[in-house]
Amino acid sequence: MPAIGFICPDNQKITFEQCFGECRLKDALPCGRCKALPYLRKCARQREWTGEPSTTQLLRGIRESWLKITRPYHVNPDEQAFSILGTSAHGVLEHFGKGDHLTEERLRDEICSGAFDFYDGETQTLYDYKTWGSYKVQQALGIRSIEVPETDETGQPILKKSGKNKGEPKTRKVYANGDIVARISALFETAVQLSDYRDKLLTILPEGYTVKNMAVQVISRDGGLMVSAMRGIEEKAPLVPVNGISGHWIRKYLGRKRELLLSALDKDYAPKCRRRETWEGRKCVKYCEVSEICTALKEKETL
Ligand code: SF4
Ligand code: SF4
Repeated sequence: MPAIGFICPDNQKITFEQCFGECRLKDALPCGRCKALPYLRKCARQREWTGEPSTTQLLRGIRESWLKITRPYHVNPDEQAFSILGTSAHGVLEHFGKGDHLTEERLRDEICSGAFDFYDGETQTLYDYKTWGSYKVQQALGIRSIEVPETDETGQPILKKSGKNKGEPKTRKVYANGDIVARISALFETAVQLSDYRDKLLTILPEGYTVKNMAVQVISRDGGLMVSAMRGIEEKAPLVPVNGISGHWIRKYLGRKRELLLSALDKDYAPKCRRRETWEGRKCVKYCEVSEICTALKEKETL
């Protein structure tokens, strides 16, 4: 069962229909609602489960996907802001992807279905659009800060003149794009997703066309702000290249996750998501929409 309603600002729950009919807090809110009605309607829109997993459902933890398909849950409209921003960015960019190119087509194979964002026939590049925060951008670009010695015009190190480190070389922070481990880890899901779209796309591309490059066109949610600059990010919309993963591995990985999801639906149970799928636990604490149901289940599991 998909999301059925909202969590209001006072933490009470309400169904979508009741909310759209009349706001339960209308007398307490300045405009009679906590958000504009189109925003709320957009939050309520979702894909129905048709029996065919999507690539995104398989990329998530199986417990999360299983709960989202089978249990009624409520969403906090305020937490949907970036998802709405992401959809709007997709909608805008889609209008400019015409001509020789392919956009937003849903493709299927025996494992799952997925819709790629944009294929550029000229450069044979497959793109995905994402709105990420600067932390994710920093990790995806492998940006790390290093301290380098400051030098004077003759190239000699400048020494500190006071303080407890007096006499030691002065340093300054510079940023370098070189942290391969951070890049691989941050881009794992994206690399699986794009490689899967690549393989699906290759089955429909006309002769002479292939996928030579893959990249994410990011729109940074906090681009241009101090927090982003402090992470060494200069661009507001960086293009992040993504390395492909072999089709054999992708089929094995997503095929296994498909089996796990279908088995969870059949048995009406899935063990908790893997640690990396929970962003090392951060998702469970703050970002998972079915965390309440999951926690109740965990409690039962420990009885
Ligand atoms: S408009 Fe906001 S506060 Fe009012 S019922 Fe809907 S979700 Fe709750
Ligand atoms: S709360 Fe954590 S373990 Fe549970 S479904 Fe959500 S992401 Fe998975």
